[in-house]
Amino acid sequence: MANLDKITRLAMECGFDKTAPGMYDLNDIDLNKVKVLGEGTKHDTCASTASKRKVTPSAGTIGFVEQAGVCHAFTPDGRCVSLFKTLYTNACQHDCQYCPNATSSTNSKIFSYTPEELAKITIALYRHNSIEGLFLSSGVSGREEIIMEQMLDSVRLLRQKYNFQGYIHLKILPGTSLDHIKQAVDLVDRVSLNVESPSKSHMSEMSHTKDYECDILRRQGYVRDSMEKRGLPAGQTTQFVVGASCETDKEIFDSMLYEYDEMKVKRAYFAAFSSVPGTGFEGRPSQPRWRENKLYNIDWLHRVYGFENSEIDLAFDDAGFLQKKDPKLTIAQNLIAKPLDPNTASAEELLRVPGIGPISATNIVRHRQKERIYKREQLKKMGVRVNHARLFIKLNGWADTDLGRWC
Ligand code: SF4
Repeated sequence: MANLDKITRLAMECGFDKTAPGMYDLNDIDLNKVKVLGEGTKHDTCASTASKRKVTPSAGTIGFVEQAGVCHAFTPDGRCVSLFKTLYTNACQHDCQYCPNATSSTNSKIFSYTPEELAKITIALYRHNSIEGLFLSSGVSGREEIIMEQMLDSVRLLRQKYNFQGYIHLKILPGTSLDHIKQAVDLVDRVSLNVESPSKSHMSEMSHTKDYECDILRRQGYVRDSMEKRGLPAGQTTQFVVGASCETDKEIFDSMLYEYDEMKVKRAYFAAFSSVPGTGFEGRPSQPRWRENKLYNIDWLHRVYGFENSEIDLAFDDAGFLQKKDPKLTIAQNLIAKPLDPNTASAEELLRVPGIGPISATNIVRHRQKERIYKREQLKKMGVRVNHARLFIKLNGWADTDLGRWC
């Protein structure tokens, strides 16, 4: 059953009185509102949903991460938790050309929660064992301060009135005040403010109402400074809409580096632009999911493998785009002049070979202290994906120009 259907069914079942007596009268809940506001968050990523598998959601489908209603996130201690994922309101004064909530969109039927309503639904779903936390985003209807205050009221009710100490991820709206950002940092586990595009000029193509430097970057700086002083368990994150404004992957990569270095974001997420009927960009082509996946690949090479930026630059073509093939393979083809001997190559050199990750590189270095590596079976046992690695390493002096000799 689709996540959203599940949420609305549960909302209906609850009347919520079975799990929270007297808390909620069924008649108080507008199930269509629960559904529309849940659906409104489907392009917002709270954990990596990158998947190479093609999945078509249908009746009986479970575990499908792209549907609205519930998403998953990793807590600071590494647990995966399911979150009730919703907008506070789908009304928005901004005109982001890709967004179904924008003023210019012809899609929207407007809904909004009240703080008490949202807090009660979250608690009821929690008591029903359907969710473990909340991911709260919103459109900006009227002044951002008013909506941000109401979102914070919802969180305060959860924390203080209902004593909910579970995981909460709160969106910071563009233009939010420093005072509200401090309050958010004190109350929740993670905040995020989506940068959406890699530069001011790209942002101005996507929206005439959002000021890239003032509404986004300055507010991310407020979060960074507040976080440093007050702490924030799961840090701040951000997201790019990939391909909405004709930006290149290289521009996104450079902006991602800025986000990590200057804004101290914990994770950057990528959502391939999807053309939605009724929005300003409805005529633009949707971007393939593989483009999003390749950006996650280079993010991984940067954050986890510790590749130099100059090395990652080798993955881009002359126009600044990533190819459909694995970026690590493109980098290796440009970087590794001669096949490496796993008995002598350094761990850093081995890590640059496709099919060898940090664990297998460490395994190789440990293993060769005890025994010489002379056959591919040994590499396989050490976690090397030999089919990926074979072009870049040699065994017994032989490279894989002749598989028969590469024993
Ligand atoms: S700020 Fe832009 S992206 Fe966010 S809800 Fe409003 S129109 Fe949509």
